Amino acid sequence: MLRLGYHVSIANGISLAFDRAKQEGCTAMQIFLTNPRGWRISYIPEEEIAAFVEKSKSFDIKPVVAHMPYLPNLASPNKSTFSKSIDSLKANIYICNKLGIKYLVAHLGSHLGEGKEKGMKNLAEAISSVEDLLGNTMILLENEAGQRNSIGSSMEDLSEIRRLVASKNVAFCLDTCHLFAAGYDLGNRKVLERIDREIGFKNVYLFHLNDAKYELGSCLDRHENIGLGCIGTKGFSEFFAYKGINSKPFIMETPEAGSGVEEIRIATALASGTPKL
Ligand SMILES: [Zn+2]
Ligand SMILES: [Zn+2]
Repeated sequence: MLRLGYHVSIANGISLAFDRAKQEGCTAMQIFLTNPRGWRISYIPEEEIAAFVEKSKSFDIKPVVAHMPYLPNLASPNKSTFSKSIDSLKANIYICNKLGIKYLVAHLGSHLGEGKEKGMKNLAEAISSVEDLLGNTMILLENEAGQRNSIGSSMEDLSEIRRLVASKNVAFCLDTCHLFAAGYDLGNRKVLERIDREIGFKNVYLFHLNDAKYELGSCLDRHENIGLGCIGTKGFSEFFAYKGINSKPFIMETPEAGSGVEEIRIATALASGTPKL
């Protein structure tokens, strides 16, 4: 069964995310656990936690994925940012465990001009410092679009990170928009084979399914609704046709304007290889 959903809001109570996701026609969902634009971790009342755990049993929405807030930078060369980032990661893991959330997506971060090697070393150090806390939660490291100083936009970087981190509780989340922005043409089978060879789709536990607003190799992280961007229906058809891809869960982080249920229908048709949309 195809697992496909949106990043949904947790406004007015984290357990309401399930209702929103269901309304949009989701069979999987992603949430932030806290304000994504701040450092502060807000307290979640016990009854909200209980309601969330209850709904994760009664709603057929899985997996539930949590996404780290935007400010933490696990590759940061700045000591204070680095330690605050680790604290944030720990707090997010703690909440994931309380809520029974399986995957926590974290961006690879930015080396801020100090060089990729240093950034990757910091990231590996950050991950190893939280390994004992993970419990049933896995960290999924997300590829970047190739913005200045970012690490992890190339498959070489990702496989190097994999070598440095070497934990069974860490795998990858690949964002299709970021891949395309970083120069990987998903509509080309040879490119998919190369990605598969270099990091192995078996190590990818989740896809962020986003079309790209700008052209191949733009390095710009701007999402577009599925089929309306530069990857387009043709690119996604090729992508979904690649062996094993369909068995992964997909989370869309497409612009607000995307009509939920309609976009789910389009993405489902593309994923199932239905020629006519
Ligand atoms: Zn992300
Ligand atoms: Zn993005």
